[in-house]
Amino acid sequence: MDPKLINDILAKSMSSDHVSIINKLSEPKRDEEIATELNMKETTVRTLLNDLHGEGLVDYKRTKNKKTGWYTYTWNKRDEKISNYVVNHLSLELQKLNDKLDREENGTILACSCSRIPLSEAMEMDFLCPECNKPFQMQDNSKDLEGIRKEIDSINEILQTKGDHSIK
Ligand SMILES: [Zn+2]
Repeated sequence: MDPKLINDILAKSMSSDHVSIINKLSEPKRDEEIATELNMKETTVRTLLNDLHGEGLVDYKRTKNKKTGWYTYTWNKRDEKISNYVVNHLSLELQKLNDKLDREENGTILACSCSRIPLSEAMEMDFLCPECNKPFQMQDNSKDLEGIRKEIDSINEILQTKGDHSIK
């Protein structure tokens, strides 16, 4: 899977700091090493690692220093879990887009200058938007449909390169 795609999706659904951590784990590292390399506080790095661990994207080995009795955590990224995470995220997005496409195709959509709403809602507001005070009017949504279909196609394409995970 394209590393840029993975980074983009992780940044969007978690944060760019989480992505920085993942990208430091091309080899196993201790949390204080990551902190030094990223010039971040160790506590911040640990919080980020815990988030990633909560999603199952990293794991760690704990070793005890026999002299001091302190524990050391060495972190690994889990590539397969990360690509599953990305696939799940994309599948979810695809589902949302398909729902949206359904609504746009099957429902009458009206628009004012600030929002787009279904006919039933416009009727409830007497066809006048309480936000912008403009009347709701029928709208040509062919451009929107085209945009949604394009997004759906591009996600399907990504998912299909992953084999079994594609959703039509
Ligand atoms: Zn409005």
